[in-house]
Amino acid sequence: MMTMIDPEYLAFDIDGVIADTMQLFIDILRDHYQIDSVRYEDITAYRLDQCLDLDEKVLEGALKQILNGGYQVTLKAIPGAGSVLRRIGKTTGRILMVTARSEPGPLDDWMSNLLDGQYSSAKIVATGSHEHKTEILLAHGVRWFVEDRPETCELIKAAGIEPILFRQPWNRESMDFLHVESWLELQQKIVFP
Ligand SMILES: [Mg+2]
Repeated sequence: MMTMIDPEYLAFDIDGVIADTMQLFIDILRDHYQIDSVRYEDITAYRLDQCLDLDEKVLEGALKQILNGGYQVTLKAIPGAGSVLRRIGKTTGRILMVTARSEPGPLDDWMSNLLDGQYSSAKIVATGSHEHKTEILLAHGVRWFVEDRPETCELIKAAGIEPILFRQPWNRESMDFLHVESWLELQQKIVFP
């Protein structure tokens, strides 16, 4: 059966779905730590310490930079994310994003650029943990949530929300959920009014 998503009840994770955070991580490694051995396809687990052989201090330093915004390189959007989100903003008046970061930090300005005129429709909720996403989604009446972390998909599915796994090298093993390979594919499943 074809999935048809009502954009009024759709929400999004940010890192790995809207923001190409893993590419940012790779760029920070190269630019700030002179490490150019990590490829995107090498990131086969959400936990970076489980799939990459990196010094603990380097890993922690780079992750801290991602959260604080202390980097020279540019965080890119995943192709298509901006146009689909702006279209959702235009048609529903609300773009809901729920991140496990404890604060949006640099994402706020970044999102304002990406969403352009639709930024006023945006709401970013920073839960501080993966486990708290479910209650936020339920409180906002969300029925579909686009997410790249399989464990979070499990949690929200158990709460009756339909996870849409955004395919990435670190979630190839998870076949149990609805999934999309791209924003183009996601857009085709959304029924715009
Ligand atoms: Mg994510």
